[in-house]
Amino acid sequence: NTFAEIDLGEALNLNIRRCKYVKPTPVQRYTIPISLAGRDLMACAQTGSGKTAAFCFPIISGIMTGNFAQRPRGTRTVYPLALILSPTRELSCQIHEEAKKFAYQTGVKVVVVYGGAPINQQLRELERGVDILVATPGRLVDMLERAKVSLQMIRYLALDEADRMLDMGFEPQIRKIVEQMDMPQRGERQTMLFSATFPKEIQRLASDFLSNYIFLTV
Ligand code: AMP
Repeated sequence: NTFAEIDLGEALNLNIRRCKYVKPTPVQRYTIPISLAGRDLMACAQTGSGKTAAFCFPIISGIMTGNFAQRPRGTRTVYPLALILSPTRELSCQIHEEAKKFAYQTGVKVVVVYGGAPINQQLRELERGVDILVATPGRLVDMLERAKVSLQMIRYLALDEADRMLDMGFEPQIRKIVEQMDMPQRGERQTMLFSATFPKEIQRLASDFLSNYIFLTV
């Protein structure tokens, strides 16, 4: 019933205390142990339910403790380990701000990219290093087409507000993005899909992107 009881590691637990989080919210209580156990997940979660932490904590913890292949260096392409897709610039920036607090002094680097703003500054930020990339789908596709970002090393994928992304017409971009992870050289990818509603289109995304997943409604 407290974060200290969940095995997130000392550095992350310290940051959680710094954020003044004491008790997990229901969505956090149910999803975090499942994600830490390595299972794919589709979860029903409304805005304000604490879902940002629900997908950030397992990702940060996994990056801190995981053994990953050396990422290519000396190229201008960056290779994040985790990708968080969200529908809007505002939401992406919010996730970025929260994720940075959770990752404080852990060595895990979080960068955000979104449309409607100059791309060059975002590219410079990426080139300083990125472990967790928070992105809106359109801007990320742009960067993939320019070969600025590679998704071949992605181990964690979180889709936030998936129903809203589909409502905004992002399904083709999302499919294009996920296709780039499904390459022979990829290792295991863990995927978390969060949505407030579960129409047929979302269920289809889940069956296409998740494997052997747990479906949670809180
Ligand atoms: P979210 O649904 O992720 O946007 O979170 C909604 C708000 O609740 C944000 O301001 C979070 O910082 C806060 N929050 C999330 N989880 C907790 C928690 N376990 N304890 C206290 N506040 C939280």
